[in-house]
Amino acid sequence: MVDLRYEIDKIFDEYGSYALLLRNDKKVRCKCVNELSQAPKDTCQICLGTGYINKAERIRMRSKATSSSETLPKVVNFTSAGSIGIALRQFYIDYTVRPKKQDLLILCDWDGVKPILDEYTEIYEIANTEPMRGDGGRIEYFIAVAKSDPINMELRFVNLQRNADKLTYYITAR
Ligand SMILES: [Zn+2]
Repeated sequence: MVDLRYEIDKIFDEYGSYALLLRNDKKVRCKCVNELSQAPKDTCQICLGTGYINKAERIRMRSKATSSSETLPKVVNFTSAGSIGIALRQFYIDYTVRPKKQDLLILCDWDGVKPILDEYTEIYEIANTEPMRGDGGRIEYFIAVAKSDPINMELRFVNLQRNADKLTYYITAR
């Protein structure tokens, strides 16, 4: 039997790229937030006045729109992507990631494990995610769908924390 997770892992190794997944439900309060008034400091250069900092992860993914000549090998085409309109963009994401609606997918350049957030960075807001299941019902990977136009946001890389093998990125988005 074909182990799809393993096959997809190999595809990511060969054709995938790294992106940051900024989880909408994982935020920490910025130190500038006033205890009494609960108000953030407008001029704060860390949270950009938003009052919180988002936690993000470095994930492997594959964007379907990257190049028309590279198509995903047949192994992952076992299911139709459904009614995907032309104004949408699809991302294939590792089964461990479990992306959710409203998470932000940040396509950026990298300096090692450090993200480079600049004018070439593209931000997509995930409109929907679909777990793609194999024959036994096991989730083999996710398809995340976003509008094809990147959204316009200001991003700031605040900090990177290493905990064993896990990297946590602190990113401010406004
Ligand atoms: Zn702040």
